[in-house]
Amino acid sequence: MYKKELKIGKNAVIRAMRIVSNIQRELYMRDTITKSDKSPVTIADFISQAIVCKILNDNFPDIPIVAEENSNDLKNPEYKEILKKILYFFEKYSEIKKTMNKDILFESIDFGSKSTEKIFWTLDPIDGTKGFLRGEQFAIALALIVEEEVKLGILGCPNLKTNNDTSSSGYLFSAIKNEGAKIFNIEKKTSKKIFVSNISSTKEMRFIESYESSHSNLELQNKIAKSLNIEKPPVQMDSQVKYGMISNGDAEIYLRIPHPKTPNYKEKIWDHAAGSIIVEESGGIVSDIFGKKLDFNTGKTLKNNTGILASIPLVHNNVIKIIKENLT
Ligand code: AMP
Ligand code: MG
Repeated sequence: MYKKELKIGKNAVIRAMRIVSNIQRELYMRDTITKSDKSPVTIADFISQAIVCKILNDNFPDIPIVAEENSNDLKNPEYKEILKKILYFFEKYSEIKKTMNKDILFESIDFGSKSTEKIFWTLDPIDGTKGFLRGEQFAIALALIVEEEVKLGILGCPNLKTNNDTSSSGYLFSAIKNEGAKIFNIEKKTSKKIFVSNISSTKEMRFIESYESSHSNLELQNKIAKSLNIEKPPVQMDSQVKYGMISNGDAEIYLRIPHPKTPNYKEKIWDHAAGSIIVEESGGIVSDIFGKKLDFNTGKTLKNNTGILASIPLVHNNVIKIIKENLT
């Protein structure tokens, strides 16, 4: 199932990875613009979304795409220079430069402005924008959701390094429901099945969390790691690359408890759809912090869930028990 969707989706994500990696090397903070929620949106977000949405729309015109960005900001005359730079980067790095102009760019970005339906794609063109700006980890995250269930997840991680393999162009994780998860070495073009780690001693487990201190409750997470007798310091990393780390056996617990200042924060579907199926298909468990299954049937946010816990099966229930003891 979903073989064609995987092939086209993977190709679209790899094309976007290639160009945004080049931009990351060239981009400076002055090229970021501020959305109303103050999150930095970069030239790369728009380029990545335009590339992935155009390829998906060309191949699957009937499947709506729900993506993070839209072209409204870019149409503002204030962003004339940003727009020029986007077209410059397309000209410089993209294989589809010949067919790209301002109108096609806006149209391509806005293929991603649809609403959730019975079947839809969800895309985060640059997940971990802040990591991208720091020159660190970020991901291009694409998932296909069919009747409330994530059926396909693709996670392009251009800056990821793994312990037992090398790739100068990063890795791509993918998973199809009930068919397992894979890691693809972009440089060598080799692919292999992946499984979560089978570490049995909590002392040796690796805890992973967001790098951004405002995105989760790092203090409480630290306390929970201590209660589990975890000895290693937590690894802090941006974006859904964290899910890739769990699925590839490079970490055991990813915890995301809402920050005390934003206790009612609702996670966005494009921030978790791809990562969650990749962890589940590699043998891990993903739920919210109270053990509830992620509910992808509530629009663009996970309204029925609070935070995220992705872990190896051995510790999942125990982590939830400790969270509940600390939060109630
Ligand atoms: P990460 O790098 O794991 O923190 O994930 C980045 C994502 O965090 C972004 O794509 C945002 O959608 C999301 N985000 C922004 N603000 C918050 C918040 N207050 N709490 C949790 N996540 C947030
Ligand atoms: Mg994101």
